Amino acid sequence: MNGDMNGADNDAEDGRVPAIGLVVLDAEQRAELVRRAGAVAGRLGAAGITMVALCWVDNAGIARVKTIPLGRLERAAGWGVGMSPVFDVFLVNDDITTSKHIGGPDGDLRLIPELDRITALAGQPGWALAPVDRYTQEGRRYAGCQRTFAHRMAGEALAQGLTARMSFEVEWALGTDDDGRFVPACTGPAYGMTRVIELSDYGREVVGALEREGIVVEQFHPEYAAGQLEVSVAASDPVGAADDSVLVRQTIRAVSARFGFQVSFAPSVVAGSVGNGGHVHLSIWRDGKNVLAGGPGRHGLSSDGEAFAGGILASLPALTAVGAPSVASYLRLVPSHWAGAYQCWGRENREAALRLVTGSSGEHDVRANLEIKCFDLAANPYLVAGSLIAAGLAGLRSGATLPPETSGDPVGRPAADTAGPGPRRLPQSLAEAAGHLERSAMLREAMGDPLFDAFLAVRQAETELFDEVSADDIVARTRWRW
Ligand code: GLU
Ligand code: MG
Repeated sequence: MNGDMNGADNDAEDGRVPAIGLVVLDAEQRAELVRRAGAVAGRLGAAGITMVALCWVDNAGIARVKTIPLGRLERAAGWGVGMSPVFDVFLVNDDITTSKHIGGPDGDLRLIPELDRITALAGQPGWALAPVDRYTQEGRRYAGCQRTFAHRMAGEALAQGLTARMSFEVEWALGTDDDGRFVPACTGPAYGMTRVIELSDYGREVVGALEREGIVVEQFHPEYAAGQLEVSVAASDPVGAADDSVLVRQTIRAVSARFGFQVSFAPSVVAGSVGNGGHVHLSIWRDGKNVLAGGPGRHGLSSDGEAFAGGILASLPALTAVGAPSVASYLRLVPSHWAGAYQCWGRENREAALRLVTGSSGEHDVRANLEIKCFDLAANPYLVAGSLIAAGLAGLRSGATLPPETSGDPVGRPAADTAGPGPRRLPQSLAEAAGHLERSAMLREAMGDPLFDAFLAVRQAETELFDEVSADDIVARTRWRW
């Protein structure tokens, strides 16, 4: 998408809709978008597509949509489709809050589809999905647009010679709802071949559908909890990885519906059980070289790699509000559940919030990455991508280092089993995480006030929404929302 990605000056001069940057989508750019959309529409039409879903993810982590017949694609590409900015203060249950810059009935935004990312949906014949960037009516980038934020942060890394690669793991519970009770779609054991046999046609169809959409599937496996499954997909650029995460989930949902199943991507599906993670894998490259491998530091970290990782680790309490943004997230984020409930790092440590994955000997340079385990799929993947880069870049700026490594489960670890104090628990509630976020000048500056304040307002309103609600009721009210 053309337009200014670098301006950081927010203002609300476009009516009541805050914009970012000064560059306006001009007539020439609009004409070019319309022309390209004509070619894309021709290809989609030939493939039998008649409907296009223009999709973005709100601050509650919910994919929202406007759809158009294929014949409207050219107009939508040049001029967008209207949508109120009030969706940025929607809560997980569709209640609406407000925030300093965004909220209320005024203003309109234009959803402009990313033409390079329109995908024919293998689970919904005749449909295509397009991620959108959101613009003001004046053709400026909307300051609340999460996808624009991710783009901007990837751009800031690039400006420093760094390329980020990411992928989002997707875990889901497959089943049906029996009067508010989750009934798993299979009965086989955790990681058990029995589950693959029970769901043989389903599993093949999920992977096949993703591959037909151009997603590179690396693995599909039964997970630990009842009815739980997982796919891992290949890494991509940060915005592409977030787009993939949305596409993968909508495809899994659509294929599941055809088999008569419901899908829960919720952090907690059954209170007290292992939940669904949304682990993020992240590697950073300079001059074509992975800075997490081949260096003189621990496990081959270069100084850039350690500083980037150190920046993320130091900011994890605030980042947790972004990556584990729901009240339900804290039913999942508990010790000894492989959810990474402690602010520590360790090579291949599945209880550390920051797991250093080195890969096997002989492929460290291509495989080494950071896995952020404390995040779940209630998170907006664009905000996750942008925030992780922002935290890593802050680490580079300050020359951050990593504390001593943690091996083993940090739970109950005496406070001083290494040189420093033992690992700290990450926030144990959304209220606690939101407090860290509110105090994070780094994330406020990276997101800009309108996006930051709207995102924070949703956290605060969801905290109030579930105040004094039991764990079982939180789960029942959020299980099928994402
Ligand atoms: N389901 C676990 C979680 O909530 C993750 C299991 C795994 O390590 O893949 O994060
Ligand atoms: Mg897993």
